Formats: sequence, C-alpha cells, structure tokens
Amino acid sequence: GQNPQPEQELHDHLDDHAFSLSPITLKKLPHLSDYLQDLQGPNPLDHNPFFHPSDGFYVNSSDVVLRQVACRLSPSGTIASPSHHLAYIRAGPRKQIFFDHCATRAAIVTCGGLCPGMNTVIRELVVGLWDLYGVRQIYGIKAGYRGFYSIHPIELNPKMVHNWHRRGGTVLETSRGGFDLTKIVDAIENHGFNQVYIIGGDGTMRGAVKIFEEVRRRKLEVGVTGIPKTVDNDVGIIDRSFGFQTAVEMAEQAIHAAHVEAESAVNGIGLVKLMGRSTGHIALHATLSSRDVDCCLIPETEFYLEGKGGLLEFLEQRLKERGHAVVVVAEGAGQDLIRRTTAQKEERDESGNMVFLDVGAWLKTELKKWWDREHPHELFTVKYIDPTYMIRAVPANATDNLYCTLVAHSAIHGLMAGYTGFVTGPINGNHAYIPLADVAQAKNEVNIKDHKWEWVRSITNQPDFVKSKQNSV
Ligand code: ATP
Ligand code: MG
Repeated sequence: GQNPQPEQELHDHLDDHAFSLSPITLKKLPHLSDYLQDLQGPNPLDHNPFFHPSDGFYVNSSDVVLRQVACRLSPSGTIASPSHHLAYIRAGPRKQIFFDHCATRAAIVTCGGLCPGMNTVIRELVVGLWDLYGVRQIYGIKAGYRGFYSIHPIELNPKMVHNWHRRGGTVLETSRGGFDLTKIVDAIENHGFNQVYIIGGDGTMRGAVKIFEEVRRRKLEVGVTGIPKTVDNDVGIIDRSFGFQTAVEMAEQAIHAAHVEAESAVNGIGLVKLMGRSTGHIALHATLSSRDVDCCLIPETEFYLEGKGGLLEFLEQRLKERGHAVVVVAEGAGQDLIRRTTAQKEERDESGNMVFLDVGAWLKTELKKWWDREHPHELFTVKYIDPTYMIRAVPANATDNLYCTLVAHSAIHGLMAGYTGFVTGPINGNHAYIPLADVAQAKNEVNIKDHKWEWVRSITNQPDFVKSKQNSV
C-alpha cells in the first residue's frame, strides 16, 4: 500500500491522543470571599443598554490561559515538553460579581517613571467603571504612593478624562519614594475606598503586594490590583507591557537621526542611548527594525573596548570600510566598565534604586580619547543622542492604546468579580489574571542564547564579545 504523508500521520495521531496533555497547575487567585461573606449578585452588564450579553460573553470560572503554547510533541502525539503546564485564570467579565456598583469606591494611582499609555489606562479605568458597571465614585490619587496620605483625592468622571489618551505623561502626577504602608492603608480605610488600581513599575508592584497583604491582614473589603507599567518590557510572564511598542517606534527615529548624522560626517559615529536598565528589549527591537545599527550593546551581555575583538577594533574596521557607524547602547549596559567615585557608588534615588551612570556620555568620551590617540590628524565626529525623555513623554501609539484599554477593562472585571492581589496582562495574546507576587518577582530578560540575539548579531556584524574574550585569554 501507499505510505501516508507525514503530516497526515501526525494529524491522525493527534486525533487519537487529543486529551493526552501534560499535567496542568492552575495559578489560583486570592478572592475577597476568602475572608468576607460572599454576597455575589448578577452583573449589571446584563442590563446595560449598550450590551446584549450572549452565551459567550461572560468568562466561566474554569476558563484559563496556558502559559506555554509552543510545545514539543513526542512521536506518539503526546506533549514531550514542557512536562508540566501552568495555567492562569482568564480575564473578562463574570456573570456573578462581588461588588455592588452603587457601593463601589475606586482609587487610581500612578507611581515611578513615565511610560506612554499611562493616561490611557487611567481614562479607560474611569470610563470603564462608569459606563460598564455604573460606578460613580472614582478617585485619582495624586503624586504616587505618598498622595494617599498627603493630598486630597480628586474625583474623576468620563467628561473630565475624555481626551487623556491623547496626552503623554500622567495627569495624576507620579513620584518615587514615600511608601509608608501603614499610612497608605489607613488612608484607604478612611476614604472608604474598596477598589485600588495601582499603575507602576517593578518597585510599585512590590509595594502593591505589601498593600494587598496588609489589607488582607486587616480583613478589609478592599480589592487591590496592579497594572504593570514598564517601558523597558522587563516584566515577566506577560507577553509585553504597555508603552513598549511606542518606545520602540520612537527609538527607531532616534537611530535614524544618528545614522543621518554619522553618514554625513567624515568618520562619523552615531551613538544612541536607549532605555533598559536591566534588560535590552528596546535596544534589541529598535536595532532589528531599523537595520542601520552596527553594534547593539545590552545589559544581558558584556562588552569591552580595548584589545582584540573589542569595540574599538570593530569600529576602526567599520569606519575604514564604510566611513560611518551607528552604536546603540541600553542604559544598563557596561555599568561595570565605568569608574565610579565613592559618592557615585552610594548614590540612590528616592525609592532606593541605584543611580545608573550615563553610559552614552562615557562612551562618547572614551571614543574621542581613542581616536585622538590613534589618529590625531584625521577628522572624527561622535553625535550622541539620548532620546529617553522624548520617548517616555509621548502619548501611546494605536497598538499600545488598544492594549491599555483591554488591560484597564480586564482589571475592572477582575476586581468587580471579587478577585484581589492580581495583575492583568496578555499571555500568548489572551488576557489573564496573574498573582501580584508572581509578577513582582518575574523578570523578562533578553535571552542571548536564542535566535533573536543571533539575528541581531547577523544584522549588525558586531563581535561576539564573550567569545572574543574567552579566545584572547
Ligand atoms: P520605574 O522603575 O519603571 O520607574 P518603579 O515602580 O520601579 O517604576 P520606583 O521609583 O522604584 O519605580 O518605585 C515606585 C514606588 O514604589 C515608590 O513610591 C517606592 O517608594 C515604592 N517602592 C519601591 N520598591 C518598593 C518595595 N520593595 N516595597 C514597597 N514599596 C516600594
Ligand atoms: Mg523600577
């Protein structure tokens, strides 16, 4: 007889073994009914004139999102790896909800640095609470965590926030430091807030975990949710964070300008410093999409200047061949190469984070010193561009705005359902609820062993510093 096509064979197997998956662990969430009397009622969306909830509208309590969808199959059609799956509760509206919308009093706060899309998230929280659930008591906490106990909350409504998504920054204002747990939770109690939406970065999420734990310890009827804000895309578990795509787009423009400057000079170097303290995602993505970059330096992998296989040797070669070069450096790269004064070693920001030294300015100085030493009679120009604040301050682009809307609505649905201590974000494209503590710990770093980094190296032709160093030792 004829042999079946290989695709056919695999397909037949899959039909037979459709249920032979690896074991699944569900990441359960804390729920206010864990310690409060559960008085769940029907979702007011049932009677919202703009919705006609059909069967598929509400998310079922057993709907989940799997962490990993790229798997390896064994010859028998079962999943060989991963040997074990993680599942998260799917985000979305529930048929039964925990909060009475008339008694709901929501507070929204933004902390840490700026990120495109913060205002969109605030706007959508306000409009979503108001329009979807009929909540009328919505408050903005000004100036970050300290605002809970030091400034009177401002009342928000859809009319007030209607065009906020077109504005960069955060209208609520933000700050660092000022995290006083007792004062914050006292203020939440005193103001009678029962839903708290916290928008911020890694530090903010660690603070949110503490607020959630203190609220639970006091057995308060208060739901707490975190919405991760990180332009660097350094938060783990979720696919990406809002503002990232806008940042990459803006970063590409900075690279383009650097390229024009470099090309138009004799021995011109365009140097661009991009955001990314612990991760180089923006630098990597902007490099891949721009194609004008000759060397991309990120915190996940080391580099060095002098000697064989070093950056200077590489740039010498590039200038000889092409007359110009573009270097992109993420702000966290090369921090250990820069000599710090004792005062700089101890410098901390208001939140207690180590202050990063300006790797771009340092690199510019080193490049000039090198050229003056090696080619004192030849022209040479370094044009250094630091677009950080320009990138952070723009409003979100269309994709990020849509993301912000989805994430805000998911957060509302989750708190309304009575879940607490969670973060909302897309996992494999589906929004899910993830325990806050997991997100506060998970990091998303560039994997320099996978194909994406190899792709960067093949586009730029930059040296493999790690390998060169090993070979020269
Ligand atoms: P980004 O780094 O993206 O700008 P971030 O949220 O990490 O954002 P931080 O300035 O580190 O910014 O922290 C924001 C707020 O969270 C500050 O008010 C800070 O006091 C508080 N915070 C930071 N770390 C913690 C922590 N471990 N526990 C409690 N609060 C924290
Ligand atoms: Mg941070």
